[in-house]
Amino acid sequence: MTTVSRILQKAQAFELATRPVSPKEEQALAKRWHDLPASAKSPGQLLGKRSTGCEATHGVFPKCNFSCKPCYHSADANKVRVDGPHTIAEVTRQMSYMNSQRGFGQFAQLIGGEVSLLDPEDHAACLSIMRRLGRMPMSFTHGDFDYDYLRSVAVDRRGRRRFSHLSFAAHFDSTMVGRSGAKKPKSEAELVDMRGEFCAMFDRLRSEFGITSYLAHNMTVTPENLDQVASVVEQSRAQGWRLFSFQPAAYIGDPTRWKGRFRDLTSDTVWSEVESGAGSVLPNGRLPYEGLRFGDLRCNRVTWGVYLKDRYVPVVDDTSADDMAAAEEMIRTFPGSMVLQSRMQGSVRIFRSVAANPAVLPHAARWANRFVRRSGGVTQNWLKARPATFVMHQFIDAKRSKEAWAHIKAGTRATEPDIVEAQERLEACSYSMAHPDSDELVPACVQHGVLDPEENKSLVTLLPLRPKSATAKPDSQIPG
Ligand code: SF4
Repeated sequence: MTTVSRILQKAQAFELATRPVSPKEEQALAKRWHDLPASAKSPGQLLGKRSTGCEATHGVFPKCNFSCKPCYHSADANKVRVDGPHTIAEVTRQMSYMNSQRGFGQFAQLIGGEVSLLDPEDHAACLSIMRRLGRMPMSFTHGDFDYDYLRSVAVDRRGRRRFSHLSFAAHFDSTMVGRSGAKKPKSEAELVDMRGEFCAMFDRLRSEFGITSYLAHNMTVTPENLDQVASVVEQSRAQGWRLFSFQPAAYIGDPTRWKGRFRDLTSDTVWSEVESGAGSVLPNGRLPYEGLRFGDLRCNRVTWGVYLKDRYVPVVDDTSADDMAAAEEMIRTFPGSMVLQSRMQGSVRIFRSVAANPAVLPHAARWANRFVRRSGGVTQNWLKARPATFVMHQFIDAKRSKEAWAHIKAGTRATEPDIVEAQERLEACSYSMAHPDSDELVPACVQHGVLDPEENKSLVTLLPLRPKSATAKPDSQIPG
């Protein structure tokens, strides 16, 4: 190949990489939008426009060393041993499928039982594989591990960092049983310092190795800890978390772990407790969630914003027609995901997107003016602004998922109102798992509520806690 053709080839690759959206991603987004039910095709919808949805692994390491109530894992999960080669092979298989279906640059959770039960080398290998396959990985943990474990994942044996950035989602709440130093916490307040210590490990990682992090705090909400949600947010919001996610408990997983009357909780009661602790500058401390949507509002409520000291300023006020118009224009102008792109690639892409739709500029300027005004004015200390996102993710009870999934598989429509709702929500699902063998993307509600029990039964045979023979080799394939 001549020098000229090499230069031409590089220029073509750069041109492709800096388009507002790549042809493959454009195709995946169009399919996602086409497949959404009419109930989800609303203004501000990000699915099918900016994202094809979040992803997650399944059956890769089902075991956990906690015994939380509730737990979304099936009763057999803890009878499956953690096996590095199986985990790595399955993560590769599932994420390759995601890449083929959804293109490059989506967020994916490395989730199963407890991720820190993986050998650090295997954990790091999974993160590298996910990144190579165009997934921005987030390790999902109960957070009960020490700095040495984190460092061994982040840095190799010769002290060289493996990653410049890590994402972890940590589950901390009083429904959990087994944490060192708080085996059976009686209140959320007992966990405040542990939440802070978890964030401090990542501060240390940054100061010692320059590795940045994105930390998400997850909390299961039950009727017992509902009245402590506000204080969790208030006491933890300056600890270093970038995202607070709340999951009202659902009847999924091991029935022996169900405790309490979960249906006493409504989305509104939980969200209003989150609002009470967030400190939003909007009237009544409102956290607006209709301006930008991620799938079905009955599944997800999301508010993006920033903290300026202890005042939370939402990015989009859904009662402002101008904010809503600006959000739509932004979504139209910047299609697709910028995840895993270099700064240079992202900057050129933004420039080209604006050049293709300069009408976004007056919208952006007026939005910036409104945003600064609601934050209290230009004199704020903007250098200390901390981005923060609030999420509520309401899983569907297993019984309803099962019926709705049967309709989806059969190509029929449900008629009972609660199953109609479940079917619409599954069709607009923003959190899917890969099943390459059956060529399917499966909503996490269906995975945990319908498929996990059988899948884990097979894994018990494949990966028993004590291998029958020392020479037995794990077969990476799981039913899917
Ligand atoms: S996993 Fe379930 S609750 Fe979550 S977005 Fe999908 S359908 Fe909705």
